[in-house]
Order: sequence, then structure tokens, then C-alpha cells
Amino acid sequence: MRLKSSPLLVGFSLAVLFAAFVMGTIYLTMFWATDRSDRAAIVRQDRLVELAVSKMQASIAHDQESATVWDDAVERVTAHDRDWLDANLGRWMHSYFGHDQAFIVGPDDRLVYGFSIDQADETRAYVAVSGAAQELIGPLRKRLAANDTSGVTDHTLSIGEVDVFRISDRPAIVSVKPIMSDTGNIIQAAGREYLHVAVRYLDGDFATSLGQEYFFKDMRFAMSAGDNPLLRSFPVSSKSGVVIGYFTWRPFRPGHMALRATEPILTVGCAIILCAATGLVFALQRRSRRLRESQSELLRLAHHDPLSGLPNRAAFTAMVSKTLANCDATILFLDLDRFKQVNDTLGHAVGDRLICHVAQRLCATAKTALMVSRMGGDEFTMIVPGTDLAAIERLAESLIGAIRQPFDIDGQPIAIGLSIGIAFSADGSSDGIDVLRRADIALYQAKATGRNRFVIFGAQMDQMMKARRELEYDLRSALKDRCQIEVHYQPIFGAREGQLLGVEALARWRHPTKGFVQPDVFIQIAEEAGLITQLGEQVLTIALADAVSWPGLSLSVNASALELRDEDYGRRVGDIIDRFSFDPTQLEIEITESAILEDEAACRDNIEVLRGRGVQFALDDFGTGFSSFGRMQKLDVDRIKIDRCFVEGCGTVGSNEAIVQAMINLAHAQGMRATAEGIETDVQRNRLRELGCDALQGFLLSRPVGSDKIGDIYRQAEEKRVAAWR
Ligand code: C2E
Ligand code: CA
Ligand code: CA
Repeated sequence: MRLKSSPLLVGFSLAVLFAAFVMGTIYLTMFWATDRSDRAAIVRQDRLVELAVSKMQASIAHDQESATVWDDAVERVTAHDRDWLDANLGRWMHSYFGHDQAFIVGPDDRLVYGFSIDQADETRAYVAVSGAAQELIGPLRKRLAANDTSGVTDHTLSIGEVDVFRISDRPAIVSVKPIMSDTGNIIQAAGREYLHVAVRYLDGDFATSLGQEYFFKDMRFAMSAGDNPLLRSFPVSSKSGVVIGYFTWRPFRPGHMALRATEPILTVGCAIILCAATGLVFALQRRSRRLRESQSELLRLAHHDPLSGLPNRAAFTAMVSKTLANCDATILFLDLDRFKQVNDTLGHAVGDRLICHVAQRLCATAKTALMVSRMGGDEFTMIVPGTDLAAIERLAESLIGAIRQPFDIDGQPIAIGLSIGIAFSADGSSDGIDVLRRADIALYQAKATGRNRFVIFGAQMDQMMKARRELEYDLRSALKDRCQIEVHYQPIFGAREGQLLGVEALARWRHPTKGFVQPDVFIQIAEEAGLITQLGEQVLTIALADAVSWPGLSLSVNASALELRDEDYGRRVGDIIDRFSFDPTQLEIEITESAILEDEAACRDNIEVLRGRGVQFALDDFGTGFSSFGRMQKLDVDRIKIDRCFVEGCGTVGSNEAIVQAMINLAHAQGMRATAEGIETDVQRNRLRELGCDALQGFLLSRPVGSDKIGDIYRQAEEKRVAAWR
């Protein structure tokens, strides 16, 4: 479970990391941009505060001018008219301009008049202010005495001094202006003018109204900068650079606000990216899981035979190597007998189902097997632990017994056999491939020596296989030589009159060192080595060359099913017939059931082409194949050759004469003729004659002979016939 979920967890974590990375990058970029805009905004706000303070200083001085540059004021102040002064330069200044205090000092800097919003005693009020006022009065009088008019314009009517101070621990703007004639008609001694001192405290409502005017949030005045990170502090300094306090406010931070405003969008974006990344990761995970599944399915298919579901050759060889690396074991190589005929006569679908049934029976019987596999076709293998001879023999017998029981496929009973080759790893080889090869050799031996049996590998078999390979090599060069293959002819006689009807050409191989090699041996080698076409051609050429000198006799030649499958067969045979100007109707080609029932179109086409030219066809070894009599009706041949095994018992008690009789009757009913093969006794000859057989062939009548003997045999047969007539 842990193993299964961890890739998902890793995937999910990756998705989160990816989303975090993307969002982090976006957030940091935005944060950087907004922070920069915030800083710029704060610098602007600082400037604004600075400007507001200096504007306030200028505006207080300007306020003072409205009443200090005035002839009446000069006269009244000189006259110390306190009521007038109160109404125009004191209280009025407070009520009209909001100044907190106003004082007037005489030429000797002594207080003449004072007004204070929160202090009734003007002298005491001035004591608190006088220090600061004096700092301004001194320089102002000097400037007045020096007639310094710098700064005086159309809007600024008189010179003055203004600065910020801390008065009784309160920040304040103090501005001093001379009281002067506006018309110039009243002359005062320069530097000895009455002076008007205006005081405006910066804490309290000043800071609040400044905040309201310039949209500063929570604007206050504080003595120290404070350490609240959310508040901005801007120092208010006097001209000499003394910090008298700080304006503090909650700064307007547009970037921060924008960031806050985009936060929900960012959050949603983050969630979307997270979802998308997670979805992507899950999709990728799903894909890779599917890929893994299809890979394991491919792996399973690569190691299993799709038809039977058994492990295949690759799986078996791997199993053999693995097993033999650790312990001794026995390998059984199994091959079905007559499976090919089932396939050919009943069709591949039935063949496939038979394979499945066989696989089930093998598995059910070989319970001790480590693995039962299908190597392909009708070949199976088994690996069994241990090398106990008796146990293996018992297993082999029970396997053969199990397969011998007829199979029931769609109500049709099918009987097949099983041949087994067995090899033990203890034979001195633990190489799996080698043990498998030995089992295969033993199987070959089992098949060659009669089928439906098992053979245990012996050392002599290796020798046998070697000999077989040598023979194949020799056959190849024999065919190249074109002088080692000879043809003998076995005469075929009329059953009733005993006249010579024709001959069957039988191939002989005169091996340079081994003498005559029998066709039972070399025909199979030729088929397996792909030499059968060449061999067939040589035999036909020799036979036709001989037979042209036997007019009136038919010539039978054997053709392998493999030859008939070759698309070119019909044309080639036709060419050879033409080459010898042979009468095609005198040629009879003997084929086996499997060839004629072959589903392949090439077989049918070849037969059709040659029959079209008049060539006859005979069904060889009739009765040994799989054709039911019903199917025989479909066969497109001119003759059947009843196999020797049916002829053997003819004329004796308990023989299968009834079958032979049925075969002959059926052949005649189809317009075919019947030849009996392997007549060895007079009893057989007479009986087959009675059963209505058309032609006879066998050692009793003549063994296969060289071409030079055929003339004599023909003459002898004719003489006998004539004698019989007489
Ligand atoms: P087959 O076509 O059934 O040929 C008859 C075989 O039975 C011949 O064996 C023949 O010698 C043997 N025979 C004939 N009469 C008797 C008898 O009374 N008793 C016994 N015991 N045997 C008898 P052969 O010549 O050894 O041929 C064996 C098989 O080899 C043939 O069986 C045929 O299937 C195959 N064969 C021979 N020549 C050729 C060939 O040129 N081409 C192909 N494709 N197959 C051939
Ligand atoms: Ca034959
Ligand atoms: Ca035959």
C-alpha cells in the first residue's frame, strides 16, 4: 500500500511545489513592484508634510501682515490702545486665522500686549514664548535697522522672521513681524518698531486639520518618532536643525493596497494553478500507471501462449535455466501424434480447441510439474523436479494414457496420440538449452520408432542426430550431383487378368559410402531440409525419361504435400511432361490425404491445372488419414490406394475386410478405381480380387526393380495372361 501510494504523494507534493514556485514568483514580483511604489508614495507624503509646515509658517506671517502693515496699527500700538489691539492684532487674529497666541513688544522688547487662548495672564504666557521670540526678534531688529528688505514683494509686505520651536514641550510656529505704516506717512526709527509675535501650536487640532486637508490618516504630532511599523514619522526641524517633534500618520501605501486588492485573485489563481498542476500530475500518474499496466500485459503476452494460456517457449527456457541452476530436474518434450491431420481435415478452429483441451489434460495429469508450456504448434514441454527414473516413467505413461482418451469437440470424437522425449539434467549437463535439446532428440526418436510412446535420452541419440545432420548434408550434395538419386519401379497389375498396368516410381539414394539409403529415411530429411522440391523434380525427370519407352503403361509418382503447396508445382510438372512429350493421361500423381485436404489454394490450383491436362491423381495410403468416408466424396482424385495395413489381414479370420470392401465400394460409387498396396500373399491377392479391387501391388507380384527389368516383367505378364486365356 505504501509503495502504491507513495508515487501519488510524490506527484501531489510536486504539484504543490510547482504551484508554490509559480505563485511565489508572481507574489515576489508584485511585492517588489508594490514596495517600490509605496516607498515613492511615502517620500511624496514626507515632502507634503514638509511643505505643509513651511506653508503654514508663510501663511502665519502673511496673516500677520493683514493687520501689522497698517497706519492705524502703528498709531494704536504707540498709544497702547489695548482694546483696539485686542480687537485687531490679538483676539481677532485667533478668531480669524486660528493663531493660538499673539504678543506685541515695544522698541525695548518689553511686552506691550498679549493674548493667549489658554492663558489669561499675558505676561506669564509671554514668559514661556519669550525665549523663542527673542531668537527671532534679535535678527529681525538687525535687519530692520539695516533696512534689509529682501523677500518683500507685492504679496509680502514686510520682512519677518519665522521658525519652529518647542515651547513648554509643545511644538509651535513662532512668527515675528514689525508693525509698520502702510502708507509710509508714519516714520519710525529703523529697528525700533513695535513687533507682533504670532504663535501657532502644531499639536492638537493643527495636526488633525492638516491630516484632513491633505488626506493623511490618523495624523498626530509626537515628541518621538515611535516604533510602530505601521505609522510614518516625519521630523519637524528648526532652521538650526533642532528636531522639535514628529508628525506621525498612517501612510498611504498604494502598492500595499493594490497587493491587498489582488490577494484574492492571487489566491484564486494559486488554487487554480494548484488544481491544474495536481490534475496534470494525476493525469500523468494515470498515464504512467496505464503504461505500466500495458507493459506488464505485454510482458505477460511475451511469456504466454495466447491460445492455451500456458507459458510459452521464452518463459519455459527461462524457467529451465533458473531451475537447473539450483537443482536437478527432468525435461519432457511432448508432441501430439496425428495433430496435423486433425488440423488439415477438421479445420484450424477444431485444431485450436483441441490444443486447449490437450493443455488442460497435460496440466491436470502432470501435477508435480514446475511448469507446463506450449512451444508452438502441437509441441509442449514440461519441467519436473528431480530425476527419479521410475517416477518419470509413471508420469510419461499417464500423460500418454490421458491424451489417448478420445477428445470430444462439438460432439465429434477425436483420437490423437502423444510422443514424449525425456532428458535428465543429471545426465552430466546442467545447461538448460542442452537438456532441452536432448529431450527434443529423444522425442524425435520416439516419433521415428512408432509414436504414442516415450523415449528417454541416451548417449547414442546424440550420435544419431549427428548422423542425421551428416545425411542431410550428403543429400544436399547428392541433389547437386544429380547422379546419386535413382528410381526403382514397382509394377502394378490388373487384379482380374494380372496384366501389367503400370509402375510406381520409388526414389532410391545410392550413397557413395553408405550404400542404398531407404526413402523412409531420406524423404523425411528432404522435407525437413527444404530439399523435397528438388528431389521430386529429379525423380520425375528420371521416371519420365524411363517411361517414354513403356508405351501403354501408366507411371505413378509420389508427391509430398510440401511440393503441392508450392505455387509453381503444376507448371514445373507440365514443363517436364512437355520436355519428354509424355502422354499426361499416362501419368498418375500419388498424394496423401493431408495434401489434398490442405486448405491452401495453391494445392487445389496445382491439382486443377494438372488434371486439366489429363494427369491422374491417386490418394496414397488411403485409410490411414483422417478423412471420414463422408469427406471422401469431396476428394477430387481418380484412384485410392488402400494402405498395406488394411491389406495385411485380408483373407484371414477377424480381419477388417469389411472396411476394405466399403472403401472399394465407395471408390467405385465415386467413379474412382482402387489399388491395394503391399500384397504379400496369394490369400491377400485372391481376397482383394474377390472384393472387387481394380489393381494390385506388392512384393508377391514384384518388388520395386530397376528400369531395365520392366521390359521382361511386361513380357512375362503378357505371356501369363495369354496362357490363362488358353
Ligand atoms: P509408398 O508410396 O506407400 O510406396 C510403397 C512402399 O511400400 C515402397 O517402399 C515399397 O517398396 C513398399 N512396398 C511395396 N510392396 C510391398 C510389400 O508387399 N510389402 C512391404 N512390406 N512393402 C512393400 P519404399 O520404396 O521404401 O518407399 C517408402 C515410401 O517413401 C513410399 O511409400 C513413399 O511414401 C515414399 N517415397 C518413395 N519415393 C518417393 C518419391 O520419389 N517422392 C516422394 N515424395 N515420396 C517417395
Ligand atoms: Ca506411393
Ligand atoms: Ca502407399
